[in-house]
Amino acid sequence: MRVLIVEDNPRLAGLIEHGIAQCGFSPDIVDGLHEAEAALSGANYDAIILDLGLPDGDGLAWLRQERPKLPLPPVLILTARDALGDRVAGLDAGADDYLVKPIEIDELAARLRALLRRPGPRSQPVIRAGKLAFDVAARTARSGDHALELTRREADLLELLIRRAGAVVRRSTIEEAIYRFDEAVTPNAVEAIISRLRHKLNDAGHPDALITIRGMGYLLRDPKE
Ligand code: CA
Repeated sequence: MRVLIVEDNPRLAGLIEHGIAQCGFSPDIVDGLHEAEAALSGANYDAIILDLGLPDGDGLAWLRQERPKLPLPPVLILTARDALGDRVAGLDAGADDYLVKPIEIDELAARLRALLRRPGPRSQPVIRAGKLAFDVAARTARSGDHALELTRREADLLELLIRRAGAVVRRSTIEEAIYRFDEAVTPNAVEAIISRLRHKLNDAGHPDALITIRGMGYLLRDPKE
């Protein structure tokens, strides 16, 4: 999921970039509104993290002005302005969520995931790895004509693995991706979900698709056609 970070504090922008990348997002950083507009016209983003005090303008005024004109992805305002009036103004200006600095990356990632679960325009409604296709909005998966019956967490896990197909995904990244920040994760929870998903992939004709890389994590092979 591509996320545009509009933040002029390079240290904070770097922390957010690193943090949400660990959670499975693909972030880009711009440090002003002008650059943000250029980025948005050049690529499809699934969400925007928007600082308000920016060198070339006020993020809130920009949002109020652009939201009705542009098909913007969900916008999460990230700011030091913490007064109730500011939060109300931010949401009224068209933001989808509002988070006050300092932030916890876990919460930011969880809120991004919540935004992305809402119906709306997306850059990639269906993602694929070989014959496996995952509908990001509907949270459904197919292999050819075979529909996979997935629980919410299995769907979140499969989405992550398809997005990273061919690469090892660490267990901690999976925990971040499939559990909300307020949920407790038992030691064997990820293994249990992996095991169930592996059975379902097996039933769908992909017996060796999901591999355990001992001591590292899990890997979804690009299933052959
Ligand atoms: Ca700023």
